Amino acid sequence: MSKVSPEILLEKIKKYGLRVDPKVFKQACAFAKSAHQGQVRLSGEQYINHPLLTADTLIELRMDQATIIAGLLHDVPEDTDESIHEIKRHFGDEVAFLVEGVTKLGKIKYRGVEQYLENLRKMFVAMAADIRVILIRLADRMHNMSTLSSLRPDKQKRIALETLEIYAPIANRLGIGEIKGTLEDLAFQYVNPDEYTRVKKLFDQETDQQKDCYKEIKKKVRKELALESIKPIDIHGRTKHLYSLHKKLIQHDNDIKLIYDLTALRIIVNDIKDCYATLGIIHKLWRPLKGRIKDYIATPKPNGYQSIHTTVFCDNGTVVEFQIRDKKMHDLAEHGIAAHWQYSEQDKRSALPQKKLAWIDQLLNWQKKLHDNKKYLESLKIDAFQNRIFVFTPNGDVIDLPEDSTPVDFAYSIHTELGNQCAGAKINDKMSSLDSALKSGDLCEIIIDKKRTKPNRDWLKSIKTSNARYQIRTTIKK
Ligand code: MN
Repeated sequence: MSKVSPEILLEKIKKYGLRVDPKVFKQACAFAKSAHQGQVRLSGEQYINHPLLTADTLIELRMDQATIIAGLLHDVPEDTDESIHEIKRHFGDEVAFLVEGVTKLGKIKYRGVEQYLENLRKMFVAMAADIRVILIRLADRMHNMSTLSSLRPDKQKRIALETLEIYAPIANRLGIGEIKGTLEDLAFQYVNPDEYTRVKKLFDQETDQQKDCYKEIKKKVRKELALESIKPIDIHGRTKHLYSLHKKLIQHDNDIKLIYDLTALRIIVNDIKDCYATLGIIHKLWRPLKGRIKDYIATPKPNGYQSIHTTVFCDNGTVVEFQIRDKKMHDLAEHGIAAHWQYSEQDKRSALPQKKLAWIDQLLNWQKKLHDNKKYLESLKIDAFQNRIFVFTPNGDVIDLPEDSTPVDFAYSIHTELGNQCAGAKINDKMSSLDSALKSGDLCEIIIDKKRTKPNRDWLKSIKTSNARYQIRTTIKK
């Protein structure tokens, strides 16, 4: 049972420099406590622990005052005699709006495709209205998952599955790496306990041997950085989450020796210039593995993640992955979209432009167009949760597409006409076929034939986006 109290939370708020009025915070704690008076969680703890720990996660994400207060009050209208009007009267419209949003999401249950879909749809509607509602829901789920063992086994499994299939992918899409990894690992134990135990044992055996070695490497890096007058803010090891290791093992024939990032050394420096300088220093010290240098600073991942990754052969043949980033990139990697609230106040050039959320509106539009639920589910899974790539237009605009998309997907996501008149494509200045799979960072130019009015039915075989599929089918039907 985690220890938590309003005082501990207030101390954190102060430490992180969040703009939260302590008076309002204490008032909300007292309000929630008296509303939940006498209620006990199945785990045996006082109910108030749950909203306090939900608020704790939101504080860790460095959220704004309204979100933290709404986190404290999120179960009040549903589970107690106090109404949303009382919340509005005491804490204002914004807090009441957020609490109501969380309540509307309701206690959704995982039962078959229809239900799953309805859950997802509700989540996206809430996200489109105010993304903070989902952040509260994720924080709520974090605590529920940590006390899952007190529920009935069938309930445990249902909630764990729902976490794996809905909550973790959403956290991932919002770039909140820490919550995504934790939720997945908590759920993994219930969804597949045998595999969890096996992977954990493998992981412990393998990383135990590496420990001393990492100490030496860290020392050496520090020394070399100092010689070049680079002052790192922090160097720390990060260990891989078990669920993501499980997925990687499946890809690599179960051979843990082929997985190079079980532990990675993370170097946080002051600015981008120092990131590249640090990469140079590491490559001067040790030989890099071919094909393992990834520059997500120049080409960020679609969820906004930035870092440089490189894997090198260290002394006595140990293979080590390094992740190099500056402070802002680090906050973004841990807190994802939540960093928006942290930075938008200090820095007008906010961390995440509004544009990044365009995909949520897109998904909702799809739902209006596709009446067939199964088709919608398929498109949701592909468009929202698959790995995404960035492809550039000749003007330098960036188009965000699912992995393995083709030039046809690219054309339709720019304009329907461009798709319909598509006659050929140049990828990185080379003529390429229309079914080629695009890669992140490619520059794609569509060659059009103005006389052409209808798309080619064959394109349906290779395209990946539901947008292109829908446009092609509708145009052919006309
Ligand atoms: Mn709750």
